[in-house]
Amino acid sequence: MGRFSKNQLKRFWPLGLIALLVLLVWWPGKPIYLHVATEREAARIAAITPAQGAAVTPERLSLERMMDDLHWLAHEDRAGRFPGTEGGLAARQFIVDRFSELGLAPAGSDGYLHAFEHPGVEDAANVLGTIVGSKPELPKIVITAHYDHLGVRGDRIFYGSDDNASGTSALLEIARYFTENQPTHTLLFAAVDSEEHGLLGARALFRTGHLNPADIAFNVNMDMLSRDTDGLLFAVGTYHNPWLVGLVRSVQRESGARIVMAHDRPWWRAGRTDDWTLSSDHGAFHEVGIPFIYFGVADHPDYHTPRDTSDRADPEFFRITAETSLSFIKLIDRVLAEK
Ligand SMILES: [Zn+2]
Repeated sequence: MGRFSKNQLKRFWPLGLIALLVLLVWWPGKPIYLHVATEREAARIAAITPAQGAAVTPERLSLERMMDDLHWLAHEDRAGRFPGTEGGLAARQFIVDRFSELGLAPAGSDGYLHAFEHPGVEDAANVLGTIVGSKPELPKIVITAHYDHLGVRGDRIFYGSDDNASGTSALLEIARYFTENQPTHTLLFAAVDSEEHGLLGARALFRTGHLNPADIAFNVNMDMLSRDTDGLLFAVGTYHNPWLVGLVRSVQRESGARIVMAHDRPWWRAGRTDDWTLSSDHGAFHEVGIPFIYFGVADHPDYHTPRDTSDRADPEFFRITAETSLSFIKLIDRVLAEK
């Protein structure tokens, strides 16, 4: 049992030889291949990225409110919003209170809250609320931003202002916009917890059966919107759904940011260029087959350091990235309703 006879071995030796040759060529060849692929990807990005953004970005959101929320969520009293800690729970309650004040319909398993298992954490929960669309029979569009961050390590607070008090503040203000401008699809606003521990909150939405992928048309995820890195805003996800390219291009026409469609390609296409497909909560949607767009700025030197504080945000750029996300949500809401 399980042993090859001499005849069988004879039949398979060409396969072994090919495997050996592939290995011999591959090991020295891989760095060269990666280098070439990285250069090719850089050239592709340079060719599709506009030299400058649009002259005017719409003004539908209150930057003042977003900045107030940003400062509050990234305040030292929140101590970096680690899941289940006093600061994390305060941030959660802040979002619950805002959803309630705005009149969002509770969409958790217990009011607005959707608790889930986070090993070592007593109390981790997503905050979920909906705004019913004019065609509630359509599948939902889910807007996500994680509100947790790294908390305190030793005596250092990781404030998590850009990551991701910024996306959370934008989510709250975008929710306010849609309470006054009814969408076509029902929008589910999901401020998710425990992203920094492997997208635990977003993955729990599906793992627990709370959400059924068949009821969801699209995910727009916002994570890191408030730092101006050369005017760039990444739109991740068009590689997986090329029909989104035209939509991103039309959003560019009313965005002061330079939108870059990148960071969603595997290594054999993009070499050493990072693939962010599973890097934030949109990954949980991608895993269950839901198309997504993720908006976020480039990694900056303050990323995941105690220097990610709210006084380092670039308010005008933050306004632009939040408005760009809103433009995209409005567009996808319209386009999917016409499909
Ligand atoms: Zn983040």
